[in-house]
Amino acid sequence: MANEIELMDNNTTSTALSTGNVTFSLKSLNLTDKCPSVMVAPTGSKLSKYPFPKIKFEEGRRCRVAILTEDVLMLKLHYHPEIGYIICNGGMCCKYCDKVSIKYCYPCVMYETDNAGRIVSPQVDMRLLVLGGEMYDQISLLSEIGGSITNMDLLFSCTSTQYQKCQVTQAGPAAWRTNETAIKHVTEYMKNNCDKILDAIGKSFTNEELVAKLGDLNAPIQDQKVISPDALNDVFNVGV
Ligand SMILES: [Zn+2]
Repeated sequence: MANEIELMDNNTTSTALSTGNVTFSLKSLNLTDKCPSVMVAPTGSKLSKYPFPKIKFEEGRRCRVAILTEDVLMLKLHYHPEIGYIICNGGMCCKYCDKVSIKYCYPCVMYETDNAGRIVSPQVDMRLLVLGGEMYDQISLLSEIGGSITNMDLLFSCTSTQYQKCQVTQAGPAAWRTNETAIKHVTEYMKNNCDKILDAIGKSFTNEELVAKLGDLNAPIQDQKVISPDALNDVFNVGV
């Protein structure tokens, strides 16, 4: 019975009673047990590619956010045309990519708001706040003034979608902390997904993995030359 689709008949749902229609639910199929990345949710819910999607700011729309950690994740990021974003480990990545940018990241909750940044639903979404130096300075200042960065809501008013620039202001005490359901959700989510916090930013590779993907930059010059006719003969005569 557990794996059969659940039939919600006239006796079990008032909706069905009032409309006279039968409705079905996918929940009873227990698909998540078979494959953890499959989820059943109410229509309107959305699935993210990463556990902590990066917040994207948009001109004309304010984002209301609460940072979850007092400390900050700092990292260097490369962009490679074939691979995309690579998190720098100071190794081969620096040889393959010449430019590096510095990012400051925080896990945070994002509220559902109207365009002015007013909260319109008790639901919160988990996001990663990724900042360049300029916005990080604004956060550092607010943290310094407030004594803590996690006890307040922050309002991000975007001034450039293209360059992801925002004016950051404090917007009262952290609202999610007054909602039991949100606290439970955030705590569980952080516990289960904190190891995937950087997935949306870029990939990380060992030196060996990068060499395998992009070719060996360190190979001695003679190894990179076209093979000589003599050497070629040697290759073909092997075992003859
Ligand atoms: Zn690097």
